[in-house]
Amino acid sequence: MTLHFDNSFARLPDAFYTRIAPTPVADPGIIAVNDDLAALLGLDRDWLHSDAATAVFAGNSLPDTAAPLAQLYGGHQFGNWSGQLGDGRAILLGEIVGTDGIRRDVQLKGSGLTPYSRGGDGRAWLGPVLREYIASEAMHAMGVPTTRALAAVTTGEDVFRDTMLPGAILTRVARSHIRVGTFQMHAARQDTDALRTLTDYTIARHYPDADGPAGLLDAAVATQAQLIAQWMGLGFIHGVMNTDNCSLAGETIDYGPCAFMDDYDPQKVFSSIDRMGRYAYANQPGIAIWNLAQLATALIPLMPDQDAAVTDFTDRVNRFPDLYQDAWVGVFGAKLGLADPTLADADLIQRLLTLMADAGADFTATFARLTQGEKLPDLPGFDAWHTDWQARRAPDYLAIMAGANPTVIPRNHQVQAVIDAAVAGDLAPFHTLLGVVTDPYAPLDDARAPYALPPEPSQIVRQTFCGT
Ligand code: AMP
Ligand code: MG
Repeated sequence: MTLHFDNSFARLPDAFYTRIAPTPVADPGIIAVNDDLAALLGLDRDWLHSDAATAVFAGNSLPDTAAPLAQLYGGHQFGNWSGQLGDGRAILLGEIVGTDGIRRDVQLKGSGLTPYSRGGDGRAWLGPVLREYIASEAMHAMGVPTTRALAAVTTGEDVFRDTMLPGAILTRVARSHIRVGTFQMHAARQDTDALRTLTDYTIARHYPDADGPAGLLDAAVATQAQLIAQWMGLGFIHGVMNTDNCSLAGETIDYGPCAFMDDYDPQKVFSSIDRMGRYAYANQPGIAIWNLAQLATALIPLMPDQDAAVTDFTDRVNRFPDLYQDAWVGVFGAKLGLADPTLADADLIQRLLTLMADAGADFTATFARLTQGEKLPDLPGFDAWHTDWQARRAPDYLAIMAGANPTVIPRNHQVQAVIDAAVAGDLAPFHTLLGVVTDPYAPLDDARAPYALPPEPSQIVRQTFCGT
């Protein structure tokens, strides 16, 4: 029993992709397979743990139902139109309809050259593969829509990134890999037929109730508003919210220089390449609007009256702030155990965040401590805020908070330690951290407590790097 694919994207016209198989690697070695996700995909457990599966995850063997291809897309990177990008180091093997009835892509990331590799080598190294595995599975465990990790393998080959590093491949699972940049590419080519086909396909796959391009735009606006609010609630900074990294399925995609904040600072930026701070924590909702405006622009050619569509689509994108504000109040209202949070609670929430920012308080630990029923005498201004908070709390506020505030998130210094150990040949720290962060709401016991600690000054990670 192997993977059984049904490939709807590969049945689209070839304007959307180039058929290409993964490039085999020298010596595949298994790092991890995801039993829970495999079960959701209906995969056989014995097969999953077999050498035959490792060979598939390495790109050395192709199931007969696979239809491997690299997807075409373009995108704005850091606000500038980059033109054609595409899967330069990723190959879609095919799609699987899971036991939940949901169709998902199974993609190898780091699987060799494609026509879209441009100057790159089509490969990935161990560090970003482990980072994406941990971060995406932690996000999933915390209820955030995200691509997931089915498997990670080593290749037995080195890749060169300033220095020689061990190569690795991630098997990424996503509801689809359709991006804002996919629409932009076909709009830029003025290929209205392709644009219409892509729109119909995306609606059928993700939003069957959506009515045409306007309905698709509404759905994208709503899912992005919800997604970004959830990121904000975890102190998550995506780091590279380019339009090619904005998924129409509303999933978090492309864990490159992403990071969860330690001390709360709304202007926080980790990515080494984000010199202007475009993708700082507090900028994320505004950037989502910017990306959605690019989607709207790409969809305009499909509309019979384009002038009217510009006005109409602008209005639809401008619904984002209200949707986002509602979602944000919902997210933070749950983090504070508020009774039926409404917009009227935004001020209470924001006042706590301001105290945290002023004090440089640890984001995750602050909410985790409140969830333990602790008062925070070390947070200047806490007492006055606490009085107002008490007045708004639900009777079972601690239970609500326990389900909304992780005790442990993948902290940068822990992820870095895992990567360092793995490069030195020890994968045990990776598996331990993965276990801890995929059970995010469990109380802190002796085993988990060290992972909840903010970094010591010497451990602080100030910069993160792209997954290239
Ligand atoms: P990202 O920054 O990961 O969103 O990637 C942006 C673009 O660069 C995409 O088209 C990727 O496929 C491409 N890319 C990133 N890394 C590589 C690589 N090692 N080889 C080829 N293409 C790459
Ligand atoms: Mg990308």
